[in-house]
Amino acid sequence: MSRSVLITGGNRGIGLATARAFADDGEQVAITHRSGDAPPGVLGIHADVTAEGDLERAVEKAEAEHGPVEVLVANAGITADTLLPGMPPERFEQVVATNLTGAYRTVRAAIRGMLLARTGRVVLLSSALAFLGSPGQTNYAASKAGLAGLARSLAWEVGARGITVNVVAPGIIDTDMTKPLSGPRMDDLMRMTPLGRTGTPEEVAAAIRFLASPAASYITGAVLPVGGGLGMGI
Ligand code: NDP
Repeated sequence: MSRSVLITGGNRGIGLATARAFADDGEQVAITHRSGDAPPGVLGIHADVTAEGDLERAVEKAEAEHGPVEVLVANAGITADTLLPGMPPERFEQVVATNLTGAYRTVRAAIRGMLLARTGRVVLLSSALAFLGSPGQTNYAASKAGLAGLARSLAWEVGARGITVNVVAPGIIDTDMTKPLSGPRMDDLMRMTPLGRTGTPEEVAAAIRFLASPAASYITGAVLPVGGGLGMGI
């Protein structure tokens, strides 16, 4: 297939692996990035998901090069961990602004084209920890749990137009985001993970690729855990 694919935060980690997976399939891939670059063969577009207007401009650029966005992956995300009593409002709001409002901005920018085309695939990156809870991550878990509500409400709004909206909930994946995790906290998380290891960005990319594939045509509003069993049953 040669669809127009747009991924936010595609310069590293899960977003980069996802961009490579779609590009290897022959799709026309655009990524947004703040730092770094796009991998070879992928269109890079500077955008910050917290900045008003950036996503509209990104969608315009992707559509000018590749045509209307048919697959949208809202991947950009951050953590800023602190126990709640010591968490200042701006630390809470920064994470929600990036992970939840950022995904809303991303989807809002691209969904009109999908509605007109009467087809489209939207995948949002949540987290197993959104549903399990995680000390120090009230901001992160709240933002990532919010994505499930966003996806399921949107699935109702756009289902009749042939658009699916799904959520991927990774466990502990080996990227820059999880580098600070070590020692007893990592040991605990691995004890809670039946497969007993961290996942790779490519393993998450494979799930995203599946949800965007014809094989997933009857799946919408789903939360797909990709966590080696961490968060099974969510
Ligand atoms: P990384 O920290 O490796 O990459 C994060 C990406 O998001 C980078 O491309 C970064 O861009 C981008 N980003 C962050 N803030 C913004 C912003 N304001 N505007 C635009 N882009 C932004 O994280 P991962 O690859 O690990 O995570 C990808 C997604 O998966 C995130 O949503 C994360 O919450 C989720 N996830 C990850 C898990 C893990 O274990 N790694 C587990 C569960 C969920 P830049 O390089 O410019 O900072």
